Amino acid sequence: MSNRTFTMIKPDATKKNNTGAILQMINAAGFRIVAMKTTKLSAEKAGEFYAVHAARPFYAELVNFMSSGPITAAILEKENAVEDFRKLIGATNPAEAAEGTIRKLYASSIGENAIHGSDSNENAVIEGDFFFSKLEQF
Ligand code: GDP
Repeated sequence: MSNRTFTMIKPDATKKNNTGAILQMINAAGFRIVAMKTTKLSAEKAGEFYAVHAARPFYAELVNFMSSGPITAAILEKENAVEDFRKLIGATNPAEAAEGTIRKLYASSIGENAIHGSDSNENAVIEGDFFFSKLEQF
C-alpha cells in the first residue's frame, strides 16, 4: 500500500473544465489509476473528510468550497506515490507552487487550489477507503 496515494480534483478545477488536462498530467507523470469516480460531497461528508482541520480558521470556508460542486476522486499507484504526487501538485498556495506543477497551472488561491494529495501513506489508505470500497480498488 505504500505505493498508493489519494487525490481529489476539487470543485474549482471541475468548474473550469480542467479535469481532463489534470488527469493527463497525472498519467504522464507515471501514476496508474486504481479507482476513480466523479461525485459531489455533502457539507457533512466534506466536514468529515477534513475533520483534522476542524479547529483551523478556514475550516468553514473549506467545507463550503469542497461541497460547492462535483469533484473527481481517485486512488493512484506509483513507486513513492505520496511524495512524488505532492511534488506534482505543488505547494498549497499557488503563489508559492513551483513552475509546471498542477497548482501553479490550475489553482486560483490557497483555498481554491484545484487538487488534493494525501500527506502520508496512512492517510492515503484512510482517504481512499472514504470514497471506494475494496471491491472498487483495482
Ligand atoms: P494541502 O495538504 O496542501 O492540501 O494543505 P493543508 O492540508 O494545509 O490544507 C488543506 C486544504 O485546506 C488546502 O488544500 C486548501 O484547500 C485549504 N486551505 C489551507 N489553508 C487555507 C487558508 O488559509 N484559507 C482557505 N480558505 N483554505 C485553506
